[in-house]
Amino acid sequence: MALMSVEEASALITQGVTALGTEEVSVSAAAGRVLAQDLVARRTQPPADMSAMDGYAVRSADIATTPSTLTVIGESAAGRPFGGALGPGQAVRIFTGAVVPEGADTVVIQENVARTGDTITTTSLTAALRNVRKRGSDFAAGTPGLTAGRRMTGRDMMLAAAMDHAVVPVARRPRMALLQTGDELVLPGQGTGADSEIVVSNAFGLAALARRAGADVTDLGVLKDDLATIRATIARALSGEFDIVVSSGGASVGDHDLMAPALKAEGVELFVHKIALRPGKPLMFGHRGTVRVLGLPGNPVSSHVCGMIFLAPLLRALQGDAAPGPLTAPARLAAELPANDARRDFMRAKIERRPDGSVHVTPSASQDSAMLGILADADCLLVRPPYAPAGRVGDPCEIIPFDD
Ligand code: AMP
Ligand code: MG
Repeated sequence: MALMSVEEASALITQGVTALGTEEVSVSAAAGRVLAQDLVARRTQPPADMSAMDGYAVRSADIATTPSTLTVIGESAAGRPFGGALGPGQAVRIFTGAVVPEGADTVVIQENVARTGDTITTTSLTAALRNVRKRGSDFAAGTPGLTAGRRMTGRDMMLAAAMDHAVVPVARRPRMALLQTGDELVLPGQGTGADSEIVVSNAFGLAALARRAGADVTDLGVLKDDLATIRATIARALSGEFDIVVSSGGASVGDHDLMAPALKAEGVELFVHKIALRPGKPLMFGHRGTVRVLGLPGNPVSSHVCGMIFLAPLLRALQGDAAPGPLTAPARLAAELPANDARRDFMRAKIERRPDGSVHVTPSASQDSAMLGILADADCLLVRPPYAPAGRVGDPCEIIPFDD
């Protein structure tokens, strides 16, 4: 089987993928959700010219020289504007966030005036328009403040709320079914302790990264390497309850690797490709109708890396995410590396942040695809492109930080 590049596999997996649908959620529940439509400001911010400081609202023409003396005729506080207009030689006591009264065009900060009774005398020059936040300088009603495809951060939620949106339209979460196969597998705490047993681990990592990518995950459990059993579970997973079915294990071509035959028997149009990546083995993807299927390797590290590289971006694409990832970041090598072969290598690595802000990475001592201790201890994947030349300490490199 010829090797397929990671880029080609990613492109095939996400080909033609669009958001599944839209739902409205409270702005307070929008963190991490992908915005389904542009969000247009319902209000203008600031709604009027507003003071950025505590001081006195004045006409700049009246304070062109220092000292200037003005008469205080009232007060404007946040939420309690001064009702009237300001005439020549007059000032209004003003506080941060208060509407600048009609007639005033600048705010002299209180540190720059001396006050006696209702009279103020300026003690230094203040330019026109100083300390005034102009109406609409943040955003104007009718203009889009947030664009569709954006994964909402807390800061985006602040902006959406300020634009007067109590609810926001977001892509609905992909519903994902997860299953694992292997005669040797037992659930944590449920084995007999026999040497032939392996306690399952893959589903926990895959579910965590899938949820982090926005999916609703249902674990369909651990299945024996038995065609009828696997087929029955796949039939259920494909029956309309889920948008995507993800399996781990049984993806090779051994006698007990029944995932591909079971999927095909259940009518899945399936592609099995050997991908030019390490760690990882054959990857299966396909669909039956609108339900997508992704078959990941059983080796724990391979399943997790393929989850990061292929599954999480697919889930994000199913929400219309404009940047489905995987998101890479620049770093520098902190160790020498040999030249790479034809496979894109995703090495488990530790990050060291130096005082100057630079990020240096050291690959973990073992890159064995079954080593969970090393996977858990690592901070990122260090990406080595196919045929990368030998790397020296200090060379630029690319990492994918773990975010699960
Ligand atoms: P397979 O892809 O089924 O050939 O499995 C490859 C290796 O991964 C074997 O050593 C399995 O025991 C192990 N393995 C498969 N599935 C899981 C799982 N869900 N959790 C932990 N290890 C697994
Ligand atoms: Mg197996």
